[in-house]
Amino acid sequence: MRVEWYKKTLLNIHFDHHVGPNTPVGGGADPDEIASLIAPVKPGFIQYHSKGHPGWTNYPTSLGGTPPSLVKDALATYKKASEKLGVKFTVYYSGLKDEYAAREHPEWRRRNVEGGFIGEDVLCPNSGYVESRVLPQLKEIIEKYNPDGFWFDGDCWSVAPCYCDSCRKMFMSIHGVEPPKNPQDPLWKAWMAFHRKSFINYLRKCAEFIHKLNPNCLFTSNWSFTMRMPDEPLEFIDWVSADISPTHGPLQASFEARFLSTRGKPFDLMTALQAFTWGNTTPYPKYPIHLFQEGAVIMANGGKWFIWVNPLEDDSLQPSHMRTVAKCADFAYTRAEAFEESEPYHEVALLHSALNFYETGNGLYDYGRVLDPLRGAHKALQELHYLFDIVDEKTLLARLNSYKAVILTEQSFIDETTVEALMEFTRGGGVLIATGKSLVNNVDKALELFGLKHLEFNAISRGWIPFRGEKILINKPWHRPLLNEAVQILPLSTSEKEALDSETTAASMNKYGSGRAVYIASDIFGAYWFEQYPKIREIIGFILDHVVAKSLELEAPPTVEVVLRRKSDSLLLHFCNLSVYKDLSGNSFYVEDIPPIKGLKFKLKLKKKPVELRLIPPESSIKWRYVSNILEAELEELKIHSAVKICF
Ligand SMILES: [Zn+2]
Repeated sequence: MRVEWYKKTLLNIHFDHHVGPNTPVGGGADPDEIASLIAPVKPGFIQYHSKGHPGWTNYPTSLGGTPPSLVKDALATYKKASEKLGVKFTVYYSGLKDEYAAREHPEWRRRNVEGGFIGEDVLCPNSGYVESRVLPQLKEIIEKYNPDGFWFDGDCWSVAPCYCDSCRKMFMSIHGVEPPKNPQDPLWKAWMAFHRKSFINYLRKCAEFIHKLNPNCLFTSNWSFTMRMPDEPLEFIDWVSADISPTHGPLQASFEARFLSTRGKPFDLMTALQAFTWGNTTPYPKYPIHLFQEGAVIMANGGKWFIWVNPLEDDSLQPSHMRTVAKCADFAYTRAEAFEESEPYHEVALLHSALNFYETGNGLYDYGRVLDPLRGAHKALQELHYLFDIVDEKTLLARLNSYKAVILTEQSFIDETTVEALMEFTRGGGVLIATGKSLVNNVDKALELFGLKHLEFNAISRGWIPFRGEKILINKPWHRPLLNEAVQILPLSTSEKEALDSETTAASMNKYGSGRAVYIASDIFGAYWFEQYPKIREIIGFILDHVVAKSLELEAPPTVEVVLRRKSDSLLLHFCNLSVYKDLSGNSFYVEDIPPIKGLKFKLKLKKKPVELRLIPPESSIKWRYVSNILEAELEELKIHSAVKICF
């Protein structure tokens, strides 16, 4: 298996350098100096650019795009540095974004519905660009530098409906008509599916080409098969990778990692050494603790930590930047035992159905509001300290019996087999919680499951939940359920006046077989994500606690992320402290201080008495006892990350 070496890595470095025609490429790059600055980091591999989005190359290419200002072959220099360090070397390659090629070959560019070009640098995988430029360039790079892997960028997130001649002809040959011009057209879904298929064909073509030239060379594509592309990861993808927001990444890292850690492929998430908003603020280096928070969440959730470093214009490295990366490495390696290969051991599944995603989003790799219900559910569950995974339908079916509860957050279109399996799961004692328009495609089954007579969609434009002495507005459309066997858990009022009674139901619970099915009549998770109002999370917690018997009770602020993973002879309970001491207004995303949490107490249900509890790293102390199948423990202090290794 070519990916074995990758799986043994923990922290790796990406050196990012998008060059232009005037960049003094490689001018300051010395392999000895680079190697000596990287050495203290002990990365598993380093990665350097071959071609960035502007299309100019970081090495002399025979295919066009060598910057006239290139001083030295920087790709060769970084490769040489990797050899001096004795570490693997992977290559960044901008795939479907290439401004140089777009200028040289307008016929390769994506076209909009009017026939105009899309963007300045976005290319179509069906245009001939791949065969004429990408594959020959990959061959050139493999022959000259023999890398251990390729990391493609500018890929799934650049895909847009393309009306170039090739795409139109290909679509017509399948469907017999011109591509549709707007989303109202009945063929629009087929048009989106055509572009998804074109993209996957492009990935496959590149991956198979690389693997044929060097069967040991890995292939991945930035963001492919992450939350924005929930298709089943295909065999040619060796690992999954994504560069998360360069501002403050722990929440997004957790959102992605909880999905990726269930997908059967090794993965990493990339955090930028310098913080900035895409294309706006100046990228100043983060404080090490800022990076530690990000790395902790990634590694605790089973990912590898990929750190994005910008070399200077002349490809030399900034010593202070590399000292920060070395601190990150210390942080990671002192916890290495806690991050050894393991699998999530969680009890709640949050379903992310690809079918629903492509049906309700823009039909492509949409990272917009279509994911808000999942983002809100993720954030609420994280803050409520639930032990949970995000899973696609296939994983859900495979692991269903290991979960106590399944949450459907606006999952309207899911496969018939999954619906049947969920009914069986609930009948057999499981807990099913669904919001708003979940299962709308199977409304009869939904009514049966949730014990409802009738469900009137969008009956109320917004509603208030009377909760702990006040009324909390959920500013979303509400559906009106008519209860049959179900009982009300929370009422809903259509008036903000606290003196007025409620007229309908916000959440209901039905005993179905030996399990329970809860219906929440609005997109409450989407509302939580949009509003970020903590009392909405309290309501969510109230509903969940009503039906889910949690295995973990944690006395800690909502800013503690908890992850439970298992190995053959032990469990690893990770605590990540995501709090920050600061004002949150404006572009305030630098972390300069993290308040430690004192006296973190937890109770974990365990069938077997542990032999030993060990803190990784041993920077605090833990007291514990085991009584009636419950492990009760108190961690003296949580700084940024601690793992409790529970040995049996
Ligand atoms: Zn096209």
